[in-house]
Amino acid sequence: MTTPRPSNPSGGTGSDQTARSVARGAREDRRHLPAVDRAVADLAEAADLVTFVALLRDPTVRRPWRETHLDAFARAVADDEARAELADRTDEAPGEHKDAARPDVLDVLSGVLWRAEDLAWHLAHAARTDPLPPAPADGDPRPYLRRAAECVPAAVLGWSNGAEIAHYAADTAAVILADLAAALALNVDGHTVKAVCPWCRGGLAGGYSWRVRVLVDEPAIVCESGVCQPPSRDVTTWWKGCPVWRFPDWPWLARRIAHLDERRTTTAAAPPYKRDRSTTGRAGTPTPDQAAAELLAGRLDQDVTPDPTEGTAA
Ligand SMILES: [Zn+2]
Repeated sequence: MTTPRPSNPSGGTGSDQTARSVARGAREDRRHLPAVDRAVADLAEAADLVTFVALLRDPTVRRPWRETHLDAFARAVADDEARAELADRTDEAPGEHKDAARPDVLDVLSGVLWRAEDLAWHLAHAARTDPLPPAPADGDPRPYLRRAAECVPAAVLGWSNGAEIAHYAADTAAVILADLAAALALNVDGHTVKAVCPWCRGGLAGGYSWRVRVLVDEPAIVCESGVCQPPSRDVTTWWKGCPVWRFPDWPWLARRIAHLDERRTTTAAAPPYKRDRSTTGRAGTPTPDQAAAELLAGRLDQDVTPDPTEGTAA
């Protein structure tokens, strides 16, 4: 096993720190702590979260959900793949069999286990104590997480390059914690807010353009459509050209959306079908009010429009 020694930590855990730093946004307060305290606190929290992730192995357990965003193209690609898979499916096709455990959750747990085992082994050596025996493939990572946390102070104080050891432990602990938090959908950053922006209606592509971003240590809603220009009385903060609503403003924002939506529906022009009724439709045919209103509002029933492929030789 070629693993980085504590005295010479390789870039393996450091290179993906920038990507993972977003996940730690909610733990900004801990980021200012010394590396030793950060490592111990992250390892203790990871030992708590492992229990909850382990519960998600059972496919019948409802798992936390993070709202994802698919644009029209990504959705079409996913639909096409699903159709191809359906067309190719036979009775013995993979996927028909229901797994006894969720494979992605098992992946997370085994990743946490080998990282924790590795960290505990190196820190135990640095602290000049006996390392724990190796874990089985489906072992419990908690003893290794606890052992690593116990060994951190002695390992840091016992060596002249204690600062490096502390940072190695803190970085590894942060990666472990980020994996667990992602599996439990605890990362708020980038979360899609299921509301259509009343000022830009989702921009050119439409859809949900609001994201939760952790800005200056607190979550905020950002409209990322790129074309959003709310009036200045509706937005007070801007970030990279996008309007931002800070966390304390969220109740106000919810009321404002409800108000704008209500006003939009009430001030929409009524369809002038009553006046034009005699000139549309067959003479003397009473048109149901509801049908005429829907027709004028642009909501054409798809069944009424003939399918363009219909009528051609099959
Ligand atoms: Zn907007």
